[in-house]
Amino acid sequence: MQGFAQYADWFYLIGAVLFILTLRGLSGPKTAIMGNRYGMAGMALAVVTTFFSAPSPVVGLIVAAMVAGAAIGIYRAKTVPMTQMPETVAMMHSLVGLSAVCIAIAAVLHTGVHHDGVHRFELFVGCFVGAITFTASVFAYGKLAAKKWAKTVKGAWVKPTQATLFFAMLAFGANYFISEDINSFYIMTALALALGYIWIAPIGGGDMPVVVSLLNSFSGWAAAGIGFTLNNSMLIIAGSLVGSSGAILSYVMCKAMNRSLMNVLFGGFGAAAAGASVDTGEQKQKNYRSGSPEDAGFLMSNASSVVIVPGYGMAQGRAQNAVKELYNTLKAAGVTIRFAIHPVAGRMPGHMNVLLAEADVPYDDILEMDEINSDFAGTDVVLVIGANDVVNPAAKDDASSPIYGMPILEAYKAQTVMVIKRSMATGYAGLDNDLFYLDKTMMIFGDAKKVVEEMTKAINGSGH
Ligand code: NDP
Repeated sequence: MQGFAQYADWFYLIGAVLFILTLRGLSGPKTAIMGNRYGMAGMALAVVTTFFSAPSPVVGLIVAAMVAGAAIGIYRAKTVPMTQMPETVAMMHSLVGLSAVCIAIAAVLHTGVHHDGVHRFELFVGCFVGAITFTASVFAYGKLAAKKWAKTVKGAWVKPTQATLFFAMLAFGANYFISEDINSFYIMTALALALGYIWIAPIGGGDMPVVVSLLNSFSGWAAAGIGFTLNNSMLIIAGSLVGSSGAILSYVMCKAMNRSLMNVLFGGFGAAAAGASVDTGEQKQKNYRSGSPEDAGFLMSNASSVVIVPGYGMAQGRAQNAVKELYNTLKAAGVTIRFAIHPVAGRMPGHMNVLLAEADVPYDDILEMDEINSDFAGTDVVLVIGANDVVNPAAKDDASSPIYGMPILEAYKAQTVMVIKRSMATGYAGLDNDLFYLDKTMMIFGDAKKVVEEMTKAINGSGH
């Protein structure tokens, strides 16, 4: 394949451009499908180019691996429910980490090849980042899938153990780099595998989406490191794109939650849990108003504008199709109805967008926080469906609140607020929400899907 190899860099360049277009496409729901297509084309081009330009490929093994990988990938893509997407993504990252480790070990084992200093540095960094990504991602998968073996660990021993493993891993890596001692390389890899586990194990389940996004970034850097080892420009570019986009996403998520990355990664979870116990006492003294789905349906069908704010409860209650029915019914009744999406509503980036897209809600009626916040004051009814933290006014007016400073959907500015949830329980941050106690707020208690279905029935029954 000598003839093909000389054009490889051109094909890689085209592949890199396709990956950049992929990221651009994935930045909005309307262009996401096209973005995915660019990604598929770029990946196919990268695989075919690498296959045909490799100096002496072991064709049988490569084809067998590709067929097995494709079969598993197609099966998983067809069967995975939307709700299991986060753990599936975590599992995929683990494979990137594992392949980085395997490639690094293969390169070290490659007899007759002397690795110079730069090469050894790339191998050492690519391998330990890959190893940490591998075990951390497997554990993140276990936690998100609620597996018994993925229990959160706690105790005073955790932080010193993390630090010891980290510095020991660096020391053995440095020894490999300086003295070319292969055993140090293996010990470093084993320590990095242990570190991946002990780093992730204390982090609470609710913070896992940020961790998964960070692992996505890590897997990209591991791939880029291995790209240097293999002298493969495509891997370097693709790895860097994944690495930097994952890092940006983690930052954006932390900013939207008003937490620092360090706080998420090294023990912020306890603070949220503590908040819950402080707040429950106060709730008893405050009054709230509750109403029936029928009352709410009647009010909405007589409004001229309604904004729906979905949150984690809509996902938990699998209410998206019922919500689409309500949307259709109100629209048919002449009500202006739109959705307001907070960047961290739900439990993963884009959670609400994915569910609403699955239910076929038109994109034009789904607005991001910055687009809709100025409209709340002129809105007749805001219907909050299983959201809590993302509409909590404490983020704006209570400097002592742990979420103070977090941007929120300003639902409290609307004429009337209706909230569907099962109880007065707190949300993810464990905080009471003053929105629920306003005079203009009506609580409608029950499971999101059931309540929304009853609302639609009531509107249809009233002749609207
Ligand atoms: P919250 O977790 O604040 O609140 C969800 C509410 O939904 C709960 O108060 C619960 O109340 C209610 N609920 C749960 N199940 C149902 C159901 N079946 N029917 C009706 N209501 C239900 O969700 P938000 O979406 O408002 O906020 C997301 C939170 O998650 C933020 O704090 C964010 O920082 C955090 N987070 C988000 C990530 C992301 O990427 N999106 C990642 C990590 C964290 P009740 O039990 O009374 O029904």
